Amino acid sequence: MGLKERVDQAVRDKSSLDGMRHSFRTIEERQCKNKAKIPDLEARKDRLRVMKEGSVGNQEMLIEAISALRENGFRVLMVKTAEAALSAIQHELHGYELVVKSKSNVTKELHLAEHLAKSGVEVIETDLGDRIVQLAGCMAAHPTGPACHMTRSEIAQLFSEHFGREISDDPMALTSVMRDEIAEYLSKAMVGITGANAITAAEGAVVIVHNEGNATRCAMLPDKHIIVTTPEKIVPTLEDAMNSVRLQTYLSTGKIVSSYINVITGPSYTADIEKKLYRGMHGPKDVVVVLVDDGRLSAVDKEPQYCIGCGMCLLHCPVYNVMGPSFGSSGHMGGQGVYLLGSTGKLEDSLEDGLFLCTSCGACTEVCPSRIDTKKGMANLRCTATDSKKVDISEHKEVLASLRNYDNPWKVPRAQKSKWSKGLGLKPKGEVLFFAGCSTSLLFPETAQKMVEILRVLGMEPAYIGSKEKCCGSTVRKLGAFSVARDKAEACFRDFHDAGAKIVVTSCPGCSSALNHYPDLIEEYGIQVSHISQFLDGKLSHESLSPVRLECKVTYHDPCDLGRIQGIYEEPRHVLSQVLDAPIVEMDRSRRNSSCCGSGGGVKSGFPSLSEAIGSDRIDMAKSVGAKLIVTSCPWCVQGLRECQKSRAKVQVKDLVDVVHEALMRKE
Ligand code: SF4
Ligand code: SF4
Repeated sequence: MGLKERVDQAVRDKSSLDGMRHSFRTIEERQCKNKAKIPDLEARKDRLRVMKEGSVGNQEMLIEAISALRENGFRVLMVKTAEAALSAIQHELHGYELVVKSKSNVTKELHLAEHLAKSGVEVIETDLGDRIVQLAGCMAAHPTGPACHMTRSEIAQLFSEHFGREISDDPMALTSVMRDEIAEYLSKAMVGITGANAITAAEGAVVIVHNEGNATRCAMLPDKHIIVTTPEKIVPTLEDAMNSVRLQTYLSTGKIVSSYINVITGPSYTADIEKKLYRGMHGPKDVVVVLVDDGRLSAVDKEPQYCIGCGMCLLHCPVYNVMGPSFGSSGHMGGQGVYLLGSTGKLEDSLEDGLFLCTSCGACTEVCPSRIDTKKGMANLRCTATDSKKVDISEHKEVLASLRNYDNPWKVPRAQKSKWSKGLGLKPKGEVLFFAGCSTSLLFPETAQKMVEILRVLGMEPAYIGSKEKCCGSTVRKLGAFSVARDKAEACFRDFHDAGAKIVVTSCPGCSSALNHYPDLIEEYGIQVSHISQFLDGKLSHESLSPVRLECKVTYHDPCDLGRIQGIYEEPRHVLSQVLDAPIVEMDRSRRNSSCCGSGGGVKSGFPSLSEAIGSDRIDMAKSVGAKLIVTSCPWCVQGLRECQKSRAKVQVKDLVDVVHEALMRKE
């Protein structure tokens, strides 16, 4: 199934992921409850980031770790490709027909179980969630809660079919029946496979974290323990590993510490007979570490390898909340998974898994303990894909063609863009220049007119360059056409300079963020670019306003381009509180943790059904706090949030400019 069909199907089946979204809320509630127990949470995240910057891709540390592991009696196999990893593991399992396994993302990435099955080795997942997913034949939805998208009744049905008898949907009954089956396999198997949460270079230790106790048992089988992991799991010391696992535990489950933390420093030994060392007493006599490179060490951008697999990004990703595991692939869940694939030389796979589904909202980075900038990484990959002509999204090609032909992404003839200004008597030159932008000019011409009136009431006469105004390049930059975007921005700055502008005011945060994206141009031309909400803050006085009185609750939606990208959160709220006499409430996801409207990153043009589904999630968030009006500061958000509402009980959506205008004009 192609990506578009997959998106449409996921949107149609969105309710099948209600269980996943419910599980995500449960994790967040538990995190909230336990937050005070980790008072140094932010400092721990900072430490993690610094540690990852120093260790991921560090060849010396890799050599140190391998040598320390070998000194401790591990056998270490460094394998370059996925194929080499599969054949090495198959070789290690020669003569065995059964292997038990605990959670490991890299084995999912390798499709290890399917590969071994073909060579006659049965792989039994021992983690309950993984076993459910294995029996259901579906993809995991969360790194530590693989089956969180399935309801207990779906699991009961699955187990009833598997065991050939009726199993009740009581969680205790489900747990117990599967525990008994897994215990049988554990008692028969001689070899276990696990992943590793960390490998410490100084001590040569492997750290494995889990709650069920199954990984300990897989690691203790008599013949062999195979640890399948990747080089980015190498950390300097045991203390660094503990910081990482504590963060991973809290962020993935909400608990402050996991039930089990295994620190393994080699095979099982005894020296109780004549003081000579004999391998394999209660644990395995052979412990093999398979380090799978698969493009990681040679990757130029190593940032996605900073991941510790906590899954926080999935909880906050608007795309993942609609698409679930269909955004990404096995072992590569969500945006970070897509980014990792692309950065390790598998650009085609990353395109197939959703490189262009990301709305570029940046919500994942805000909650990521390693502060991985997925939005930026995805944009760079899009640029590579676009430059190498690997992108085949017809709607995106149309946007690029529209920019070439009409100088706007909306396929509207150039002459129409400045129509809104007719009769306003705007002069073409001046220190304060109004940059209306394509979207405001063409979608909301009356908002552009209101902006001019607002500025005039405040005693400013804005200049406007009319039909000469060019596109800022924001949309095409998000589609990966970096050089076109830069050319567009540069042409805009030249026009601003020719118009004698010192300050450029925009109504669209996409425009201000696109123009501010080039500090060299800002410096060269000495021009300040401000969004209207920022520009108005501090310029409105009580005397000039008659606040609009509303009985209903009002909420503010932070546009991603204004909030997370430009850090403008308080200014629009301050302006809103001046122009509105109404109860203003915040949505659960606001400011840095705001949720996207679904219109960004080319998703609205390329995948409209996804954009609409994300927008309706945002509307639901506003409804859940009782808001009847959403005020925002972006034409894309206004349009997206208005269009996605199908039900009759609509929430009104207004641009901040409209509310400011009303308050000023009432006074006038
Ligand atoms: S930037 Fe937004 S849409 Fe893209 S992966 Fe991150 S959270 Fe998801
Ligand atoms: S990308 Fe960040 S938030 Fe997402 S799983 Fe990895 S560490 Fe956690």
